[in-house]
Amino acid sequence: MKKVKNIKVKPKFALFLKIICFILCVLLGSFIFYSKQISQLTNLNYSKEASRKILFSKNKDYVLSVGENKTLNAAFESEDYNEKYLDNYSKINYVNHKDLIKNINNLLKVGYSNSDINLIITHGSNEDVIEFAKRDKVRYLEEFYTLDYAKIKNYDRYVALSDETGDNEDDIVIKVNLDLDKENYVECTQVVDFSTDMLVNKHRCLNKDFVPDDLVDISSKYTDEKDLKISRIAMNAFIKMYEAAEKEGYQLIINSAYRSYEEQEELVNTYLNSYGQAYVDKYVAKPGFSEHQTGLAFDIGSRNSRVFANSKEYEWMQENAHKYGFIYRFDKRYEDLTGFRNEAWHYRYVGNEIATYVYEHNNMSLEEYFVIFLDK
Ligand code: ZN
Repeated sequence: MKKVKNIKVKPKFALFLKIICFILCVLLGSFIFYSKQISQLTNLNYSKEASRKILFSKNKDYVLSVGENKTLNAAFESEDYNEKYLDNYSKINYVNHKDLIKNINNLLKVGYSNSDINLIITHGSNEDVIEFAKRDKVRYLEEFYTLDYAKIKNYDRYVALSDETGDNEDDIVIKVNLDLDKENYVECTQVVDFSTDMLVNKHRCLNKDFVPDDLVDISSKYTDEKDLKISRIAMNAFIKMYEAAEKEGYQLIINSAYRSYEEQEELVNTYLNSYGQAYVDKYVAKPGFSEHQTGLAFDIGSRNSRVFANSKEYEWMQENAHKYGFIYRFDKRYEDLTGFRNEAWHYRYVGNEIATYVYEHNNMSLEEYFVIFLDK
């Protein structure tokens, strides 16, 4: 009986083994096949998660034809992935925004093209783009956003000022970013930190308590005024400039330097009493809005001439001040940007890099430099 039993069990067991082997082989084969497909995608820097979704959505061939693409990867990783925008995702630049795919979907829905979306997403934070994507398609998008310092949050103001003035886009973006479409002295941006590239004007103000770093007394060698002070970094640069000028036979003198908030207030009152409100509004900065409070601005004169603009020192300064980190600040050409009339004597320390750049670019205004390079 035992023998018979054994004979009956063996073939069944063998069949069972065969089935198991077959299943294992199929599983192993599929696994190898699957792994190969995944690694084709991960080799192109798609994440494992994205690669799995690409396989299951049957988009592998398309993705392989595109190749490495960070936006596509983000799309397949995102729960906002929308199959009908697959081709758009592959043509839109990647930016590291939390809601990138959701934003792209919304912008496509409103009717923006891929290149429009590229312009939009490079001009603002995730939150800026979310807000922008909520609105209807805007006018003049390309005109403004081909300038990389254009800001999403200022968009409506660009359009409004453009409609009002008809100025070119470059000027519009610079003016709006400087708040020049707003009234002088109202709602100013508080400038808090001292730095040699700080910008103070009628829209960017200093607190009453702001005092520049490292104020030093100006020696009587350089001025006929009493108790003048300036920031040390500007003073050191001035001394070098003074000595270079002297060697060539030019005599510079400092007529004004650092002025505290209170001193600017007194100055305003003095002019108010002598010349009246209209004059003050036009020519004297209100307290908190004067560059002299930064401790980086000098009013410079010539020992040889009463009118600085007519002196040979003025000409020397025009050609040489940048070598020592100073810029000619209030040129007549851009009174509308600085908010100040032409002042031949007013020089500002900004350091050699900025001063040289400004000099080599037709003495562009510090305002323009600020918008293009500093106001990120
Ligand atoms: Zn001045």
